[in-house]
Amino acid sequence: MNKKLIKKLKTILPKKNQILHNESERALFSYDAAFCKKVLPDIVVFPENKEQLKQIIQLMYENNIPITTRGAGTNLSGGAVPIKGGCVIVTTKMNKIKEINEEDLYAVVEPGVVTKQFADAVEKCGLFYPPDPGSMSISTIGGNVAENAGGLRGLKYGVTKDYVMGVKFFDSQGKEIIGGGKTVKLVTGFNLTGLMIASEGLLGIMHEITLKLIPKPQFSRSMLVKYKSILNACDTVSDIIASKIVPCTLELMDNFTIRAVEEHEKIGLPVDVDALLLIEVDGHKSVVQEEFSKIKSICEKHKGEVIEAKNETEKAQIWTARRKALSCLARLKPTLILEDATVPRSRVPSLMEEIQRISKKYQLAIGTFGHAGDGNLHPTILTDKRDKDEMTRVEKAINEIFEKALMLDGTLSGEHGIGILKAKFMEKEVGKDTLNYMQRLKKGIDSKNLLNPNKMGLI
Ligand SMILES: Cc1cc2nc3c(=O)[nH]c(=O)nc-3n(C[C@H](O)[C@H](O)[C@H](O)COP(=O)(O)OP(=O)(O)OC[C@H]3O[C@@H](n4cnc5c(N)ncnc54)[C@H](O)[C@@H]3O)c2cc1C
Repeated sequence: MNKKLIKKLKTILPKKNQILHNESERALFSYDAAFCKKVLPDIVVFPENKEQLKQIIQLMYENNIPITTRGAGTNLSGGAVPIKGGCVIVTTKMNKIKEINEEDLYAVVEPGVVTKQFADAVEKCGLFYPPDPGSMSISTIGGNVAENAGGLRGLKYGVTKDYVMGVKFFDSQGKEIIGGGKTVKLVTGFNLTGLMIASEGLLGIMHEITLKLIPKPQFSRSMLVKYKSILNACDTVSDIIASKIVPCTLELMDNFTIRAVEEHEKIGLPVDVDALLLIEVDGHKSVVQEEFSKIKSICEKHKGEVIEAKNETEKAQIWTARRKALSCLARLKPTLILEDATVPRSRVPSLMEEIQRISKKYQLAIGTFGHAGDGNLHPTILTDKRDKDEMTRVEKAINEIFEKALMLDGTLSGEHGIGILKAKFMEKEVGKDTLNYMQRLKKGIDSKNLLNPNKMGLI
């Protein structure tokens, strides 16, 4: 980046550590959690407020420099890495919780607020912000909105999009756009709030987000259910959903994943079972008691052995086990490829059977865990990218998993987004015309193609 431009940036961002231009520092921002390293950004900047963000965007627009916005960089699809170099704008210093409104049940935050810190602040007021991605102790609200992150409580409470009431963002020229607001109802013009959800930094850069809050549930009970056959566990999931009970959480872990977690965390998980279901029911005490009993009998009907968490420590252990699944699997092999296949809930057993078949066919180690109650499984392939032969088999296995998910009326991404990694599958799922429509939308909004360019299968 030329010296004149850096000088201008320094007038916008006067504090130490607001601009990184050494190569070793910039290298850290050529990765995200998807580990698909692309090119180095030319510069990395950390605005602290809306005005600084706006001026950076305007400067980049005038100089035709691409921008990649980044929260915590935990996304799993390559969304936060720059393909074309340019400027990475990191939002982590824009991290104020501006308002928690207990009367009207909303909060206003800057995009860099860490999800868990926000959820904890809200809980202190007796309120509840349900979206809880496994990464919530690091991920940011801005990243959650831009990826429409899901979480363990998605089954009952929905995902991030269900809590976004409004967004304020800058377009590629640094003009402020306002979508939604603080009222429960709002139909003034296009749904620009919706436009920003899952937009992966391609259509604007958010500087303020208004989130819906709900009352905190009074009571909850959690159980861990052991299965000798993972297919029985999957049948249980379909049966619970069909019986019209909606637990708060309904998560699955296969034997491979259980062993990986237990080996590292030593929390006493049973390593001799084929699968575990982790289930939580919450709400009014009497309803919880009734639903817990019904779920217990459905589990037992499918040969599950139910163990209830007796206290808060045991409950916390169950959810720690699940949240640690990805990081514990990642320790086992040099390369981890995490998939996000999602199908209608009744099709979870078929998807699971197919994953097992594919794992055997290509002789690959695949650990599967995920939000089974949402039909969202994460088959996780452990491999080594230096092994060319194995990587060819991995590629084929991924294609087959997607083919099967689509055949089952599913999707290639339930929550991790498209970014770079899933871009080549876009057309297969949405078709040429839809991809074209997205392309025209992007071009109309960002005619210079500066905002996170060449992602999501767009050019
Ligand atoms: C261990 C682990 C567990 C995970 N568990 C889950 C899970 O349960 N559910 C789930 O959905 N995901 C999960 N993820 C994925 C990831 O945490 C989410 O996608 C999360 O929403 C990303 O947030 P972030 O702040 O890290 O965003 P980043 O990774 O920094 O960015 C993600 C995308 O958002 C865009 N973006 C960021 N900020 C803005 C902004 N202000 N304006 C416009 N665009 C912006 C970026 O350009 C990028 O495209 C997990 C990841 C890890 C590593």
